[in-house]
Amino acid sequence: MAGTGSWAFTIIKTMKLLLDNYDRTINYLRLSITDRCNLRCRYCMPEEGVELIEHGDLLTYEEIVKTIEVFARNGISKVRLTGGEPLVRRSVVDLIKAIARIEGVRDLSLTTNGVLLKEYAEDLVEAGLHRINISLDTLRSDRFVYITRRDKFKEVWAGIEAALKQKLSPIKINVVIIKGFNDDEVKDFARLSLTYPLHVRFIEFMPVGEKNDWNAEEMIPSSQIIEEITELGELIPKSPQESDGPATRYYIEGGKGEIGFISPISSHFCARCNRLRLTPEGQIRPCLFSDKEIDLKTTLRSSGNEKDIEEVLHQALKAKPQRHQIGDIRFKKCQRGMHAIGG
Ligand code: SAM
Ligand code: SF4
Repeated sequence: MAGTGSWAFTIIKTMKLLLDNYDRTINYLRLSITDRCNLRCRYCMPEEGVELIEHGDLLTYEEIVKTIEVFARNGISKVRLTGGEPLVRRSVVDLIKAIARIEGVRDLSLTTNGVLLKEYAEDLVEAGLHRINISLDTLRSDRFVYITRRDKFKEVWAGIEAALKQKLSPIKINVVIIKGFNDDEVKDFARLSLTYPLHVRFIEFMPVGEKNDWNAEEMIPSSQIIEEITELGELIPKSPQESDGPATRYYIEGGKGEIGFISPISSHFCARCNRLRLTPEGQIRPCLFSDKEIDLKTTLRSSGNEKDIEEVLHQALKAKPQRHQIGDIRFKKCQRGMHAIGG
């Protein structure tokens, strides 16, 4: 036993911790690898006239891998690829393979709209992906066409089925509930967690991006969703895990999956924030809701040396605000749309 103790001590001793100014441990990087998307969700992207990032301005896969190597040596252990739609970027499977090999990355996940998932699910898992979030805001194909402006419901459902056949755990379904659009589907989504081993995550509608026509009346607070779901059965809390970040998690007795809530608007989750975001063109974003960005790309493309990258990482940590300002009179919606930040 003495041997085991000293081994554990060595691991703890060699693990670096990234702490921000408010003593939060930052161990999670969300990486948007493209601002392009094969859907046009009304709350995220305009139908037309999207100003896309020039190809040469996107971080290359080599730059992304180098960034994660340095970040992982400094305490980042969880990485999520997102977008835009990450599966539309060419050779994304090769990128996942390369990230999965990086020492220190213990948790590798992806957020997708699911349209291309049937095609990719097996390759993603073989490449080393651990888990996946699939976004789906309605279970009705006519509503799907309305909200995404594309007729792809069948493809997304096929993607979910394909994911269920793979060793991906958990598989989360991200649902943004919007008053007057899908608030009558809350129980239908909750029921998915009874029938399938899916973790359904209800996300409050957020004011992100100048083209997003968010208004407080359309946002349904998690408390209201919880109340409705309890008509199906008692929501039993899951004990919080280090990996939960801002989510609160429950299950219904006998259900195969879980139900979770992400409530950035109705209940400040900032004290539990554990993440940094990296935009497709290499800007570190300390807070989703603020346009403050720290330029990493210039460093990657000039010296590219480890010490300089670490310096930028620490600048970004220092720039993390204690909390977002939504609800405050001073709050101004950030300019970048969610598709160009990475949700
Ligand atoms: N295209 C992928 C997808 O849809 O899953 C990944 C990127 S998308 C920006 C990531 C997540 O952000 C999705 O679950 C989407 O529903 C969510 N999202 C986008 N705009 C949002 C908003 N204004 N409020 C809440 N969630 C939003
Ligand atoms: Fe595309 Fe995802 Fe934004 Fe929908 S939410 S437009 S799928 S990036």
